[in-house]
Amino acid sequence: MASDFHSHRRKSAARTLVSGTEPDGLASFQAHPWDAAEPLTTVDLAAFAAIGETGLDKVKGPASDIQIRRFEEMLELARRENKSVVIHCVRAWAELLEIRKRFPTQNWLIHGFRGSPELAEQLRKQGFFLSLGMAGIEKLLKKGFSLERIGFETDEEDRPIEEILQTAAAKLGLHVSEVEYITDRNFEEFLCLNVSREPFC
Ligand SMILES: [Zn+2]
Repeated sequence: MASDFHSHRRKSAARTLVSGTEPDGLASFQAHPWDAAEPLTTVDLAAFAAIGETGLDKVKGPASDIQIRRFEEMLELARRENKSVVIHCVRAWAELLEIRKRFPTQNWLIHGFRGSPELAEQLRKQGFFLSLGMAGIEKLLKKGFSLERIGFETDEEDRPIEEILQTAAAKLGLHVSEVEYITDRNFEEFLCLNVSREPFC
C-alpha cells in the first residue's frame, strides 16, 4: 500500500487523506485559510479522520487576524474531537510556532513543505510531521535524508502518489518499497491509526 498524505481527490488505490467537506473514506475536514472570511460549514467531525487543511497564508487570502481566528477555531475543534491537523503555512512560520505553544497537543502535519533543510529539522525536532510534494522533494531529498516524520502528497498534481514515491526513492537512493513502508508507518502515526506510541494518540 502507498499513502498519499494530502490530496483533494483519490488518484489511485493508495490510502489517501482527502481534504474536503465530505466525510467519504479517509477524509480531513478542510477550512482553508484562503476561505477564512467565509462562514464555516457545520459537519459531524466524528466522521472525519483529521482536520485541515487549515492554517495561515501571508501571500493569499483575507487579513492575518481573520486567518488566525479561523485557524484557532479549527485547533480548538481538533483538541476537543482529538483529531490530527493538516496545516497549510505560507510565510507565517513565526506565527505558527507561537500558536503551537497554545495548542501543544495533537499531531500537526505541514503539507506541501518546501522550506529549507534547516527549517525541516527544526520543525521535526518539535514533533511536526512534514508532507512533501514535488517541490519539497526537489529541494530536500538526497542520500542520507531521514524519512522520520516525512510523508508524500499529490495535492494538485495529476500523477498518482506511486509515481511521486518512485521519484523520492531515486533521490534517496532507496528502493521504493522501503520508502513506501516507512511513509505508511508515518501516515499511521500521524493519524493515530493502529498506534498508541505517539504522545497525542
Ligand atoms: Zn491542497
